[in-house]
Amino acid sequence: MTRPLDDVLRRTAAATAAYQVPERTIELAASALLGVPDGPRLRLEVRALRDAALLVAEAHRRDCAESVCTTCEAIRYNLAVALATVRSETHPGLDERPG
Ligand SMILES: [Zn+2]
Repeated sequence: MTRPLDDVLRRTAAATAAYQVPERTIELAASALLGVPDGPRLRLEVRALRDAALLVAEAHRRDCAESVCTTCEAIRYNLAVALATVRSETHPGLDERPG
C-alpha cells in the first residue's frame, strides 16, 4: 500500500524531472526552510505555494487561447485554495462559519 506522502513525493519528483528543475534550485528552496520552526515554516510554505499558483495562472492566462483547457481547470482549483488561504489570514473568523 502506498502512503500518501510517498505518492506526493513520487509525483513531485517526476514533475520536477519533467520540467527539468535544477537540483540547485531545489537545494536553495530547502535551505530557505532549514531550521525554521514549524509554525513559521508552514506559513512560508503556504505563501510560497500561493505565489507559485499565481505565477502559473498569470503566465498561462497570457498564453492560453483554448475555450476548454485542462490546465485552466487545474489553475481554477489552485486559485480557489490560494484565495481561501488569503481569506483565512485576513478574515480568520470566516473559517468558523457553520456548514
Ligand atoms: Zn488554459
